[in-house]
Parts: sequence; structure tokens; C-alpha cells
Amino acid sequence: MKKLEQIYEGKAKKVFKTDDEALVIVEYKDDATAFNGLKKGTIVGKGIINNKMSNMLMQLLEKHGVPTHYVEQLSDRETLVKKVSIVPLEVIIRNVSAGSFAKNYGVEEGIVFEEPTIEFSYKNDALGDPLINQYHALALKLATKEEIETIKNYAFKVNEVLKDYFRKLNIDLIDFKLEFGRLADGTIVLADEISPDTCRYWDSTTKEKLDKDRFRRDLGGVEDAYNEVMRRLMGE
Ligand code: ADP
Ligand code: UDP
Repeated sequence: MKKLEQIYEGKAKKVFKTDDEALVIVEYKDDATAFNGLKKGTIVGKGIINNKMSNMLMQLLEKHGVPTHYVEQLSDRETLVKKVSIVPLEVIIRNVSAGSFAKNYGVEEGIVFEEPTIEFSYKNDALGDPLINQYHALALKLATKEEIETIKNYAFKVNEVLKDYFRKLNIDLIDFKLEFGRLADGTIVLADEISPDTCRYWDSTTKEKLDKDRFRRDLGGVEDAYNEVMRRLMGE
């Protein structure tokens, strides 16, 4: 597989063309941003961890019937994925209150929900990724009704699979963000990444944060936290 010209450079990853129209290569960087790019930094080794973790979790999800863009890991930082046209929705599932949920609704972090919640943000950096509901998504023609139904079903399925998986590693899956895309034939698949950049992981015993909140909130031990989750995933 030939790595051809760069199509896109985002905040955390670069995307490259390949000699196959239907495939692209994503390359994970160590760059970290928060608050819509206002806070910038580097998390040493993050790209390697996020690449491997995302690939492991996508393979696990495939086994459980969730189609993903994953094809093959090419190197520490590079993965071959199916090219999709991204549905411009950030799909957020929450099991426990944290982050913007706690802030927006005036509650403390750590309230365990009886049922997971789902919400959508319009993926648009210029607008600051505003929160929208599914009627807004339809009105804005971001996705069809059927696509939204499919996305919701997959997102809840992802939650069930990952929650169970992380529980065995003594990690509570607090919340996470997913992105979906359309293949050339319109099939919806899970895309982008699943990593400590896009999920909140708390140690089940100590409730210590093992994710990007350590960077966002200047808690220190950022690299150690990413390494710790990876270590547990590798069964060490
Ligand atoms: P951002 O664009 O938010 O800065 P990244 O740095 O992670 O994010 O950039 C990766 C970009 O690649 C994102 O815009 C993401 O939506 C897009 N992307 C993820 N998976 C695929 C895929 N399989 N095909 C095409 N684009 C993808
Ligand atoms: N998230 C993300 N990208 C975003 C916004 C949120 O990956 O642009 C993830 C975030 O890591 C967390 C979940 O989605 O796991 C919920 O984030 P929240 O809405 O609480 O926003 P934040 O606190 O990050 O502002």
C-alpha cells in the first residue's frame, strides 16, 4: 500500500491518500488540544498509544457486530482505514456525569446514570461544535432519519461492549465521543478514533482520571495515565 499525498491535517491526526481510492492512511500525532484549540500541548507517545488502542477497540467492536473503518495497522503511528465521508456529528454517550454535562446542568461529577444518555454536537470548529438534537441534524441535512437511527443503535452497542470490556480492567467508562462515516455505497461505519483523547476513563477503585482531563485540567501525570490504560489493555 503506497502512502501518497496528505489530504488533511487535523489537531491530532493527519490523513493521507493511498493508491487505492477506497482507503486512506491516518497518522497519529502527539499534539494535544483542548477547549476548541485554545489550549495546546504535546503528550509524548500519545500518538502511538491512541493508534494502538483505537485499533484494538475497533477490532473488538467488529467482533460484536459494529462495522468500523479499521483495515490494518501499518506502524506505531499509522493505520490503513476505509475512506469515509464523515457525518458531521459528534456522538456523545455518557454513563456518569462529568465535563460539560456537570457544568451545563449544575451537578457534580460522578453521578452514575440509570441509563446511558446520548447527545449530538454539530462537528463545526468555526461554530464551536454546538450541541444539537436529532431534529436539528435532520433540518441541517447532516444525516437522514435512517442514518441517525443506525448511528444511535451502534453508539449504544459500542457503549455496552466497551463498558463491559473496561470493567474487567478496573476502569469505569464515564463518557466518550464517536464519529461515524459513510462508505462509497452509503454504508454507515464507525470512524475516527477511540482513545483517552475521546473517552473519560476513571480507575474503578480510586476514581483517578486516566484520560485527557489530566491535560485539560493540568492535573499532571498525563503520559503516565495514557500508559496505564494501555498497560491494562495489553493485559500486563
Ligand atoms: P480534527 O479534524 O477534529 O482536528 P483529527 O486531528 O483527529 O481531528 O483529524 C482526523 C480527521 O480525519 C477528522 O476530521 C476525522 O473526522 C477524519 N477521519 C477519521 N476517520 C476517517 C476516515 N476513515 N476517512 C476519512 N476521514 C476520517
Ligand atoms: N469529546 C471529544 N471531542 C470533543 C468533545 C468531547 O472527544 O470535541 C469527548 C470527551 O473526551 C469526553 C466526552 O466526549 O470523553 C464528553 O465531553 P464533554 O461534552 O463533557 O466535553 P468537555 O468536557 O470535553 O468539554
